[in-house]
Amino acid sequence: MQPPTPIQLLDLRAQHEPLQAQLDAALHATLQEAAFIQGEAVGQFAIELGQYLGNPQVVPCANGTDALQLALLSLSLPPGTEVLMPAFTYVATWEAAAVLGLVPVPVEVSPHTYNLDPAATAAAITPRTGAILAVHLFGQCADLEALRQLANQHGVALIEDNAQAIGATFTTAAGEVWAAGTVGEVGTTSFFPSKNLGGFGDGGALFTRDAARAQLLRQLANHGQTRKYHHERIGLNSRLDTLQAALLRVKLPHLGAWTAARQRIAAQYDAALLGHSSLRPPGRDPRSSHVFHQYTVQVPDVASQRDKLQHYLTGHGIPSAVYYPLPNHLQPAYAYLGYSQGQFPVAERLARTVLSVPMHPMLTNEQVAYICQVLQAWP
Ligand SMILES: *Cc1c(COP(=O)(O)O)cnc(C)c1O
Repeated sequence: MQPPTPIQLLDLRAQHEPLQAQLDAALHATLQEAAFIQGEAVGQFAIELGQYLGNPQVVPCANGTDALQLALLSLSLPPGTEVLMPAFTYVATWEAAAVLGLVPVPVEVSPHTYNLDPAATAAAITPRTGAILAVHLFGQCADLEALRQLANQHGVALIEDNAQAIGATFTTAAGEVWAAGTVGEVGTTSFFPSKNLGGFGDGGALFTRDAARAQLLRQLANHGQTRKYHHERIGLNSRLDTLQAALLRVKLPHLGAWTAARQRIAAQYDAALLGHSSLRPPGRDPRSSHVFHQYTVQVPDVASQRDKLQHYLTGHGIPSAVYYPLPNHLQPAYAYLGYSQGQFPVAERLARTVLSVPMHPMLTNEQVAYICQVLQAWP
């Protein structure tokens, strides 16, 4: 079997093609205006993204990793403060804490949703804990209600890394609908090109519902200055380019439709994997919508099972990827924290058994049907 048309893990060109004229116009206008730093488009994009997310304050910055660092900086935590974060996630959360002299503390995740386990998070809180840094991995919210409650109860901050879940919502027991990234003291996101709302280079943003914190974040992202050459705080140079903002403004109105397309594709994958003898579809938390940054299945934890599946898919013209193959507590950079293999068995098992299959809004029905067929034929 071979695909009806070539399948890519991500097809940015196909996504941009229908918007080419508008993107060209935005590019042209930006070059004409020549206000490349803090031009008008940056503020306009921040307002429009805020409207999309239910009106938090939006502070654009240079990338999603800086956003995490700025979020932590805004908490003024003393060096050595512990920041709880998932044992299974991208390295950026770890990095942001570590470079500020804070201590990344890994916490076990749920084997179904891949997100922070609230009970394990509660158990990890100590008098030195300053923040819980939740990641909404692959596009589904962590248990925001439990984590918000836990943070309140212990007087620590909740930070949300929303790089993969822009537009996702969480419905509380009382029926309130919360937008991912707007529940914590600060939420962060990334416009890395492969993200659900991807730019044309690096970009990021912070969200907060607290106007004073938004002001502080704006200062921190701009050399800690309150006015030109007047530096109140140690900050970063972390701004979203006018050019990126202008181009992102063209893409933002399509985010809803792109998310719906991802959800349709996921539903097709789910149906194909229902009752599959070896592949496990991603687990759902019924309280969270899922924006499917990735569709990530699990293979049985048997030696080389994942390699075999990946090889089989490649042979059928279907690319796939492993997010993420080595948990951060076992990375050489974090050896100084003193963790060893076996301390976070769920995270470690996921690192051995997860595989992400093609997921982007430009996949055709024929391509998705073909991928489903190939997955179903896997024993
Ligand atoms: C992409 C990503 C980041 C980092 O974003 P950059 O813009 O690449 O710095 C942080 N956290 C998660 C979960 C991500 O997926």
